[in-house]
Amino acid sequence: MRVTVLGCGTSSGVPMIGCRCAVCTSDDPRNKRRRCAIAVQSDDTTILIDTPPELRLQCVEAGIDRIDAVLYTHAHADHVNGLDDLRGFNVVQNKSLDAIADAGVLERIKSRFDYAFQPRDPKGRWWRPCLNPVQMDGPFMVGDILVRPIVQQHGRSPSWGFRIGNFAYSPDVNGFPPESFEALEGLDVWMIDCLRDKPHPSHAHVDMTMGWIERLKPKRAILTHMSHELDFSELEARLADGIEPAVDGMVIELS
Ligand SMILES: [Zn+2]
Ligand SMILES: [Zn+2]
Ligand SMILES: [Zn+2]
Repeated sequence: MRVTVLGCGTSSGVPMIGCRCAVCTSDDPRNKRRRCAIAVQSDDTTILIDTPPELRLQCVEAGIDRIDAVLYTHAHADHVNGLDDLRGFNVVQNKSLDAIADAGVLERIKSRFDYAFQPRDPKGRWWRPCLNPVQMDGPFMVGDILVRPIVQQHGRSPSWGFRIGNFAYSPDVNGFPPESFEALEGLDVWMIDCLRDKPHPSHAHVDMTMGWIERLKPKRAILTHMSHELDFSELEARLADGIEPAVDGMVIELS
């Protein structure tokens, strides 16, 4: 199994429009962060998690040519608004795609992108993305990959992380109920929200993330959803062994 980081930036992306800070103007490519998404792949199956605004570029550059399903963590714009680019997969694969999410998340996405959930054009053309809404309710399979949803607190609304084997993806979170902490035990790799140093009402800041890592002790922790307040090399230098900032395009091999 393999995980590709398609984006590890917060909702504004990095660099931000109109910002001339040291990170936004940095020459370090590791400070260029698109909005958050990952692809999880086995030999036979590819799962896309979220459809951020730069989805086309992210998939083209990472060589993601086909997907078996898209999963949604939640319905915030930075995780959803590249949904139109899914049409490219409809065309290549010549079929509609399963969009898997919690019932409330599905409703919010459908209300904004109703045209993507219409029956397929009778002549078989792909004028618009074509998605089958699939409501998740506990663990589920996509191809040969078992996915376990993990509920998270994300400000005033919930979001969902996903555990796949001993890998878990937990973006957009500022708290976990006790059962979610239990579901995150024994990880080899944990990709976890880490927005910035200052506290935030709906995201984990550095100290909060480090506290969770200390508690759960994954073998490797990879920080994501980072803002322009975190410079890659400065952050990397102060992290303990086994903890690192994500970089767009990075590939993590899972055993
Ligand atoms: Zn987000
Ligand atoms: Zn900036
Ligand atoms: Zn969010």
